[in-house]
Amino acid sequence: MHSEPCDALRRQGYQFFSTESSAALKPCLWCKRALRGGDMCYKHQFYGIESHRCVQMTPTLRCNQRCLFCWRSFEHEYPGEREISPDEILASVRQLQKKALSGYKPSPYVTQERFAAALDPKHVAISLSGEPTLFSRLPELIDLFSHEGFSTFLVSNGTRPDVLEQCRPFQTYISLTAPDRETYLRVCRPLEDTWDAIQESLSLLGTRRSAVRITLVKGYNDHEPGAYGRMILESGATFAEVKGYMFLGYSRKRLERGNMPSFAHVKEFAEKIAAEAGYRIRDENPLSRVVLLERVQ
Ligand code: SF4
Repeated sequence: MHSEPCDALRRQGYQFFSTESSAALKPCLWCKRALRGGDMCYKHQFYGIESHRCVQMTPTLRCNQRCLFCWRSFEHEYPGEREISPDEILASVRQLQKKALSGYKPSPYVTQERFAAALDPKHVAISLSGEPTLFSRLPELIDLFSHEGFSTFLVSNGTRPDVLEQCRPFQTYISLTAPDRETYLRVCRPLEDTWDAIQESLSLLGTRRSAVRITLVKGYNDHEPGAYGRMILESGATFAEVKGYMFLGYSRKRLERGNMPSFAHVKEFAEKIAAEAGYRIRDENPLSRVVLLERVQ
């Protein structure tokens, strides 16, 4: 898109699928680190996803929430967007990922083998920014990716259960960022009160491979672990990730460094959630300040 916010994002490394749409991809820090032979992201440790073979993308940057902790800028919107088709996205995903990694060449750090693997991605994380369920053809896009041999992770804020119901990703994530409606309205600042819709989305998780993602913001939503635990239990989600908020991107304009919980705080909170939900602690990654809970079969 040709607009001021998109030009700013382009400078930050976003690659747009079309000049008229906000569909975009951007390799994450871990993708580049893994390419150089460094550590991979916690999703490798938790789920076996190889960071350098993962495309982080979104079919739209629009969103119906204004979460305090969001990395993106919603101070600007994306007017007049034309949705591009799932086929158009699929047709250029590899080429755009290659363009995004064009600063890298085989070297003693970036081995020929790893570089070739990075140019042949296997995973798509629909999680870059924006709310993907606002893209009207999301179910079709996910099916296309799967058909093409990609494993897909879909990360949604859960406000559109009708769309989620039709999506069949390899793993569905729903963000749950409050133990109650009042906190939700304060932290996520939705355009409409969609708390009930999120509850409906959570009820879809028991029958699929799924994860509830809790982003803990110290002083805002790190209370009532029992309520989180009960919602996770009722959802029947396969996993729950309790992750500390990171003071990054545009969220620095809305929050303070002190709102980042320490790993010890995240872990203690996660243990309380696990106890209430009857889930077990399966893994943890202190660097990413995340604890993985798993449903006991
Ligand atoms: S739902 Fe996601 S993209 Fe939308 S404002 Fe919240 S964190 Fe940002």
